[in-house]
Amino acid sequence: MKAVADSLWKQVREDFPILAREVHGRPLVYLDNAATSLTPRPVLAAMNHYYEHANANVHRGLHTLSAEASEAFEQARDKVQRFIGARGRESVVFTRGATSALNLAARAWARPRLARGDVILVSELEHHANLVSWHIITKETGAKLRFIPLADDGTWRIDLLPELLQGPVKMVSVAHVSNVLGGINPVKEVIAQAHAVGAKVMIDAAQSVGHMPMDFQALDADFLAFSGHKMCGPTGIGVLCGKAELLDDMEPVEGGGDMIVHVGWEESTWNLLPYKFEAGTPPIAEAIGLGAACEFLGGIGLDRVRAHTQELTELAARTLDGMDGVHVYGPLVGRLGPVAFAVDGVHPHDVATLLDGEGIAVRAGHHCAQPLHTKLGASATARASFYITNQPEDVDRLVAGLQVVQEVFGVR
Ligand code: PLP
Repeated sequence: MKAVADSLWKQVREDFPILAREVHGRPLVYLDNAATSLTPRPVLAAMNHYYEHANANVHRGLHTLSAEASEAFEQARDKVQRFIGARGRESVVFTRGATSALNLAARAWARPRLARGDVILVSELEHHANLVSWHIITKETGAKLRFIPLADDGTWRIDLLPELLQGPVKMVSVAHVSNVLGGINPVKEVIAQAHAVGAKVMIDAAQSVGHMPMDFQALDADFLAFSGHKMCGPTGIGVLCGKAELLDDMEPVEGGGDMIVHVGWEESTWNLLPYKFEAGTPPIAEAIGLGAACEFLGGIGLDRVRAHTQELTELAARTLDGMDGVHVYGPLVGRLGPVAFAVDGVHPHDVATLLDGEGIAVRAGHHCAQPLHTKLGASATARASFYITNQPEDVDRLVAGLQVVQEVFGVR
């Protein structure tokens, strides 16, 4: 059984041409998947095919190339819809990424509906995309933020939820998987409790879609935001998935081509969903690439993707935390992807730079989660993040790399 699994992941790795390269004379170990994942051949091929065979704008031309481009673009929407279990294609709005998707819902749903004193509930581990987007809204509306606090192990204090949901809580917007602590958050429970008090729920699924099975209808969130480039797709494309009745009731935030039915001198009428929110020429090749990424991951199986990623993440968290002078932030189990850590006596930037010299790509900094780092008592952390292109040997290389770091800094 294990041999079958090993050969599957070996085969998966062969689909990523970049893994053949060396960095500083060492075979690349790519552990920065939470920032952006690597891109497999079928995704590259789908985007190339568009540019080589059907390079035209969508929805507007009567010529063959435009018709083919439109068809490929809309098929990509259908692939995304099936991949995340949305009820209909009208729920799938293409955006520039998770950040644009979160901002779109904040602006189009929340801004007109929130008033002074209303509450938006987020958690202490949010990415800036799910925090600053709300700062803009609170500034404009007088609504305020409330936070689900973290327990010492970096998990949510879910026991406090009934208390936190008291009062005029209109929106709950939380991360499914933390991009720093890696914990898989109990969003289903949050959704059920939030709905019971009449609040809407948005899930920042930037680190979960494409990493584990996703069923938008079963989850019963009101909005779901994610990026293509963290799930084997290209940059420049993401999705805001929303319940159709909510999207239908929202005004667009951008006006221009494609999002209208009729334009007069003084006013216009909006197009149907999802086009109402897709003003201007969309990222066509990128959407097609995202559709191909959905097929690629679906071909492997999302249960397998999750099991493999979680196994490696937890192995890395356990192993690093067991090293002298190394500390892992966040839970050691129930963890998917990111492993943020500190090496005693060495700044995270030096950790990342020295690991790069060993051919190992990790990230250092606050990972767009500055308030979380304040909570952790660290201005920065180093972060290794795992995905389907990784293998157990990568954990060994990381450990060996960290030993080099400790030797260079004389902290071993
Ligand atoms: N939310 C989370 C949890 C993330 O990890 C990220 C990116 O790191 C984002 C949102 C923003 O994604 P993007 O930069 O692709 O818009």
